[in-house]
Amino acid sequence: MSSNKKLIVGNWKMNPVTLDEAKKIASKIKRISPTLTSTETVICPPLPFIISCGSRKEVKHFHLGSQSASVEMVRGPHTGEVSAEMLHDIGVEYVIIGHSEQRARGESDVNVAKKIKAVIDAGLSPIVCVGELVRDEAGAYLEVLKNQIKHSLADVPLASVKSIVLAYEPIWAIGAPEPMKNEDIHESSIFVKKVFSDIFGVEAGLKVRVLYGGSVNYRNAPDIISYGKVDGLLVGRESVNSPGFVELLKAVDNIAYK
Ligand code: PEP
Repeated sequence: MSSNKKLIVGNWKMNPVTLDEAKKIASKIKRISPTLTSTETVICPPLPFIISCGSRKEVKHFHLGSQSASVEMVRGPHTGEVSAEMLHDIGVEYVIIGHSEQRARGESDVNVAKKIKAVIDAGLSPIVCVGELVRDEAGAYLEVLKNQIKHSLADVPLASVKSIVLAYEPIWAIGAPEPMKNEDIHESSIFVKKVFSDIFGVEAGLKVRVLYGGSVNYRNAPDIISYGKVDGLLVGRESVNSPGFVELLKAVDNIAYK
């Protein structure tokens, strides 16, 4: 593990439907967050709900994230876009970039790289999602992963690498009945760190936080952290199930660190 705190990120996706529900989920997470000792949590609600779910440094160990940000950095005629600077202004600290659901809708590594730059320039931390569609016996997926990381991080200057969080999400394990096996998570996270080290140097590779995402719930989360040896988790479905997410945070926080 690369940091002294575990990072648990809730990707709410296009959920819930009402602002009232969103505020209820957020308030339960804000209630538990200050009791955590070795865990930081980030919630990423849909854009219209973010501002009502919290503010910057409102409670300890609780942070706001966004599921997207524009590639555009300068204000102006960009209908429908929300800039990283605007997100920063309302208290957002993290932005999920390159999620497989956005890549499936046409988001390229080139666009991912532009968004990462915009987000870093605004003083936010990008959570960069990478992951293979299939895991073949011959290991071609490793090349896929390597290229995704290299191309997505192509525009990041060395001085900014400390703000990057990587989320390894094998696409076949997202929305699935089971997560990836813990030993495979461990192996892949080492590979992701190695590729990162090859680009930015060993010191940066040792420090970068690598999260795992894909069918994590409160029951499997502690073992994924302990045996998958990742720095945190990117959680989809379980993050909008507030009792489950609260249990997950407690269980992960109870893991003795290192
Ligand atoms: C995700 O989409 O990032 C994700 C990990 O989803 P789930 O936890 O539902 O598999």
